[in-house]
Amino acid sequence: MSKEVRSSEHAEAPIQTHEIRDVQQTTCVIVGGGPAGAVLSFMLARKHIPVMLLESHQDFDRDFRGDTLHPSILEVMDELGLADRLLQLPHTKLSLVAPPAATGPRLQFDLHDLKTKFPYIAMMPQARFLTFITSEAQRYSSFRLVMGARVEALIEEDQGTPTTETSHQAMWIIGLA
Ligand SMILES: Cc1cc2nc3c(=O)[nH]c(=O)nc-3n(C[C@H](O)[C@H](O)[C@H](O)COP(=O)(O)OP(=O)(O)OC[C@H]3O[C@@H](n4cnc5c(N)ncnc54)[C@H](O)[C@@H]3O)c2cc1C
Repeated sequence: MSKEVRSSEHAEAPIQTHEIRDVQQTTCVIVGGGPAGAVLSFMLARKHIPVMLLESHQDFDRDFRGDTLHPSILEVMDELGLADRLLQLPHTKLSLVAPPAATGPRLQFDLHDLKTKFPYIAMMPQARFLTFITSEAQRYSSFRLVMGARVEALIEEDQGTPTTETSHQAMWIIGLA
């Protein structure tokens, strides 16, 4: 059975209902263009699985985003063949970490002690990271990114005709919002 989500492609505007103007079909819809949605989209796209990533905001540049890429994340990027290009983007490296201590002496960790190809934290704004991952995914014709697409409802096939601007039909719908 196929499922569909309906989305408004003008996420900042008040939600209104309209007749369906557009029905788009794919194999996998991923809701939410954060790190999880962007990386999963890339992984599916590179296996040539048609995937549509729906992100409610118009861009990735939002205040609450983090900006640290830890060694384990860099290893995952390496496994995906992305680390070299990722680390060509502007970033700074942090190897000595001293978390605040409530009491007693402050501990300091040197990430060079880790058995990893990447013994440092790469400091990079998450917006830059997400732009990079989605750009890499766009190398594959199986990937489509829709910005400003806020998912509003999940509709099972037999629930009748929804009223919305855009409907995305897929075998799999993965919510990572
Ligand atoms: C202040 C702060 C600082 C942080 N610092 C770091 C850090 O330095 N390093 C680090 O590794 N992690 C950091 N984190 C954690 C990191 O941001 C999260 O672990 C990560 O963002 C989670 O990724 P995600 O893809 O699961 O979700 P999110 O990043 O939350 O992404 C979800 C996406 O879904 C979209 N969305 C939501 N609803 C809908 C909808 N209805 N339709 C379509 N799209 C929708 C959102 O706009 C968002 O882009 C920080 C978090 C916070 C709050």
